[in-house]
Amino acid sequence: MSDTQTLQAPRVRFAPSPNGRLHLGHARSALLNWQFAAENGGTFLLRIEDIDAERCRPEYEQAIGEDLAWLGLSWPQPVRRQSEHMPAYRAALLELDRLGLVYPAFLSRGEIKASVAAFEERGAVWPRDPDGAPHYPGQERHWSQTKRNERIASGASFAWRLDMQRALTGLATPLNWQEGGEDGTLRDEVAAPQDWGDIVLARRDTPTSYALAVVVDDALQQITDVIRGADLFAATAAHRLLQVLLGLPAPIYRHHQLITDRNGRKLSKSDGDTALAALRARGTTIAEIRKMAGLDAPLRPFGREA
Ligand code: GLU
Repeated sequence: MSDTQTLQAPRVRFAPSPNGRLHLGHARSALLNWQFAAENGGTFLLRIEDIDAERCRPEYEQAIGEDLAWLGLSWPQPVRRQSEHMPAYRAALLELDRLGLVYPAFLSRGEIKASVAAFEERGAVWPRDPDGAPHYPGQERHWSQTKRNERIASGASFAWRLDMQRALTGLATPLNWQEGGEDGTLRDEVAAPQDWGDIVLARRDTPTSYALAVVVDDALQQITDVIRGADLFAATAAHRLLQVLLGLPAPIYRHHQLITDRNGRKLSKSDGDTALAALRARGTTIAEIRKMAGLDAPLRPFGREA
């Protein structure tokens, strides 16, 4: 570990999207962040990731505050709300555009599906990202500016995507990151952003994407340690690429195990049984929550290496 990392007091964030009620899995993540900050003289931040105007609701945001306060957590104000910072994400998108790495992508979900199906009918295997979605076919990558402008002028909606191949060409920095294990060790992980294809940088309905907003915010908020669920482990490869392209620092990542239901599936916001509000209403104590979230003593999450 470098000197700067050892000297810096950690800054961590819990970054939920207010599109449903928090459940036990969120409690695990929030408490791990909180405990890490407390044990290392650091700062715990709450960030509201509400770029999806369709699904995010103020009442869910309020409930997040209530649930976290019930767990005994507190955080400095003002809370960063992503919907209020679109110009920051736009600046990052413009920078990637200046580097010649973005293109407007017009294909709808149905058109992507049809394109992939036509390809697979010929017996070929279409590449998919780690989440299972097919890579974007990306015909527009090679369109002339005139053709793009004509299409945009016709009122067609589009997303901005990263030209992954171009982005990876001539990349000097090795793409890896430091991953903290739950046993307190740090190891090097190699990033494979190409596994994601041409990621979305700005969606049709909102001028940014999760990947772009999260790397901009982690840098702006000087986050030293990103503690989040293992479901986001693979996405870190794409986040690392954006950090390198935008000249942003890399935090240490500490992906923790997910809590699963009886069938081994990760908990979801629509599953009311494990919602913190429901557990609270049933008289569950914080000590019981910690136990259910796998955080009963003795716990040594992510000891920082000196
Ligand atoms: N907003 C994301 C979620 O609710 C978390 C993002 C992150 O921690 O990087 O799943």
